Amino acid sequence: MKTLLIIAVIIMAGSFQQQADKYENVRQRMVKTQIEDRGITNTAVLEAMRKVPRHSFVPKEYQDEAYNDYPLPIGYAQTISQPYIVAYMTEVLKPGIKMKALEIGTGSGYQAAVLAEIVNKVYTIEILPELAKEASERLRKLGYKNIICKSGDGYEGWPEYAPFDLIIVTAAAEEIPQPLIDQLSENGRLVIPIGKPSEVQELLLAIKRKNKVETKRLTFVRFVPFKRL
Ligand code: SAH
Repeated sequence: MKTLLIIAVIIMAGSFQQQADKYENVRQRMVKTQIEDRGITNTAVLEAMRKVPRHSFVPKEYQDEAYNDYPLPIGYAQTISQPYIVAYMTEVLKPGIKMKALEIGTGSGYQAAVLAEIVNKVYTIEILPELAKEASERLRKLGYKNIICKSGDGYEGWPEYAPFDLIIVTAAAEEIPQPLIDQLSENGRLVIPIGKPSEVQELLLAIKRKNKVETKRLTFVRFVPFKRL
């Protein structure tokens, strides 16, 4: 009788675990085929991408597509980036465990979560109050205690918490906002899509050296526009 009970408990626990993350296998496959096989090698980035439940960041009707190789709508005419782009931008930033990061364009909160798996603290700003609220609640429910969200125009950065070791902008701007450069620490890295909203944009990496800012053009991308309040 006792054995039966134990077996029943084990079976129930197993099915609960399956329920808790029925996307586990599809997520591991996504990381292998879309991310590792395309050349991302940073183990912390791969580990974070294996861990963050991307399906929890998209609307219910898109959950089954969450691990596919494309961006998805998240409401309010905004999108969550393609998984590879999230991994690529994160790798380019060379994130370290003691670092402080700033993200402009919280959107769903997915990119913030990926960063928060690696760095010490993530500050993230979203211009649309509805999305900011949804993302902050989602991140709280998922247990991310090292992400601080706010609603507002990210153009001005977040001077109270500056300087940042890393800054990631996930909306396309025509130029790098000067306040973001100012809030970057020495040797800090910033990644941003630059270009006109309706056109293909270029992903730019800026590294702040003592007396100058080095920039590097990385690849072509397509992001939603950077807006101003
Ligand atoms: N990083 C997000 C995807 C972002 S989509 C994710 O992982 O889901 C880009 C987001 O940037 C949109 O939600 C848009 O509203 C926001 N945005 C655009 N201009 C902004 C600005 N000036 N400040 C803050 N957020 C901005």
